[in-house]
Amino acid sequence: MTIRVEKTQHPKEKPVDHNQLGFGDIFTDHMFLMNYKEGQGWYDPRIVPYGPLSLDPAAMILHYAQEVFEGMKAYCGEDGVVRLFRPQENFKRLNSSNEHVCIPPVDEELLLDALKQLIILDKDWIPTAPNTSLYIRPFIIATDAHLGVRPSHEYLLAIILSPVGVYYKEGLNPVKIYVETKYVRAVRGGLGMCKTSGNYAASLKAQVVANDQNYTQVLWLDGVERKYIEEVGTMNVFFKLGDEIVTPELRGSILPGITRKSAIELLRHWGYKVSERLISIEEVAQAAKNGELVEAFGTGTAAVISPIGHLKWGDDIMEINSGAIGPVSQKLYDTLTGIQWGRQRDPFGWMVEVCEK
Ligand SMILES: *Cc1c(COP(=O)(O)O)cnc(C)c1O
Repeated sequence: MTIRVEKTQHPKEKPVDHNQLGFGDIFTDHMFLMNYKEGQGWYDPRIVPYGPLSLDPAAMILHYAQEVFEGMKAYCGEDGVVRLFRPQENFKRLNSSNEHVCIPPVDEELLLDALKQLIILDKDWIPTAPNTSLYIRPFIIATDAHLGVRPSHEYLLAIILSPVGVYYKEGLNPVKIYVETKYVRAVRGGLGMCKTSGNYAASLKAQVVANDQNYTQVLWLDGVERKYIEEVGTMNVFFKLGDEIVTPELRGSILPGITRKSAIELLRHWGYKVSERLISIEEVAQAAKNGELVEAFGTGTAAVISPIGHLKWGDDIMEINSGAIGPVSQKLYDTLTGIQWGRQRDPFGWMVEVCEK
């Protein structure tokens, strides 16, 4: 399939101050679109001017949330080369999410090719200030005009681009996390492992309650016993207990993060003992009392590594590493961002070159 390109006649003003970008408010001049119709498959891949989508008010996405999305980034290196971080992993996960919500699979190679073309066309939007990048949001929505629950027969896939700065205003300063004991995000057998909008709808109430108490994010516990740790809002989570680095195993209720996978690979490469296993909040609280909880951090594309300095579980307040970033979090952050911005060798072949800026 060849990708049709329609360039904008009205380029927008680009942000001037790359240090004031924030996250997710500014979008580039173009977007990628592609449609699906049962019997025809995916068709009409195209790059067109960025703008509103037209949807029938009965479009099934609006009523039954049949949707999947991805989040990834392109980085402009100090050498002027634009690179993607493990993009094949994102498109593989997109298809895995598709499978769970009955959306037909997409051609992963076509998407990577489309994404590269889109980035090249909008490359003047890629920010270059330290810690800035081009956030990439692919998503698919059910567009059948139909009321009544069943998988849609038609879909729209889109990729939009947003120049971004840091995700948390804290930057690399440790965040405060609220352990959620009332609400749950997902249960095994549900869609927790799937990057789908409904999981976020389910998370908003808890996040607002946590934000009102001055906490940045919630730490979810398992939906059945409220005992085992799952993940943090938009991040997977790791704890260093003595010499062991523990992260919850993938049991079907948490998102299999690509940053999580990369962190595990790096830590093992450095010789750390990493366990993917069940870990209860009680175990963490006990380790905090014994002085064995030496570090905690979240991993995700948006913030890369986000150290956790403070955990509140009911009346139990845990201060971790005196609220400062720990050496493992720092080393992971330096290495991952070093590879992503091309400052450091890429021993695992994670980066995919797109173009020269
Ligand atoms: C996207 C996401 C993550 C992080 O995944 P990465 O691939 O590392 O960006 C973690 N948890 C949830 C719920 C997510 O949606």
